Amino acid sequence: MFKGNSKLDKIDPMTGNALGDLLARVGELIQLTPELRDFAPWPNQPHFIRLEPAAVPAISLIEGLAVQKTIATSQIVESIKSAARGASWQQTYSEAEVGADFLNRYGWFELVGPSGYYFSDSARAFIVFWDAGLHYPAHLHEAEELYYVLAGSAEFHADGQPSARLVPEGTRYHASNQLHAMDTHAEPVLALVMWRGQGLKDSVRMAAS
Ligand code: ZN
Repeated sequence: MFKGNSKLDKIDPMTGNALGDLLARVGELIQLTPELRDFAPWPNQPHFIRLEPAAVPAISLIEGLAVQKTIATSQIVESIKSAARGASWQQTYSEAEVGADFLNRYGWFELVGPSGYYFSDSARAFIVFWDAGLHYPAHLHEAEELYYVLAGSAEFHADGQPSARLVPEGTRYHASNQLHAMDTHAEPVLALVMWRGQGLKDSVRMAAS
């Protein structure tokens, strides 16, 4: 990786690419954070895959985000704001499952994984956002999961564990098929979410109500 050399920056194909910048910063964060690195290492010499931008209503909320973050996460949060408009956003749920308000104020995009900007068939890394005052209903998936809060805060709930409020740099692990849910209160939450193990390509299942 070249740093601080403007000549090399000019010939770097990632120059001017906000998503490339975000990927580099997230890769660096994972390398420097043992809990993340041990969960799923960043791909070696990844090749950038251009994904079609896809918008969600929450982009404008992210661009205006002003919530607590830390020195370790603030540059990534700024990178996410810069990249948000051109990212390939997705939403897992239908309006019947979570309601229109939820869909207007939430979204995610995949950095690394079977359909991410960097291909991997052994791990996935997503950027996810929920605005303030949202309830993310109980759900589960076969892949193991690790949340790492980048900005804001949220209350995490999981079957068999006490609930916990996470702030920036806080992590939460969910085992394979462990039922879990989340609430945001006064603040939104922006998080890095990683998956590994079986069921990597599966989507999330809502708990039977
Ligand atoms: Zn999950």
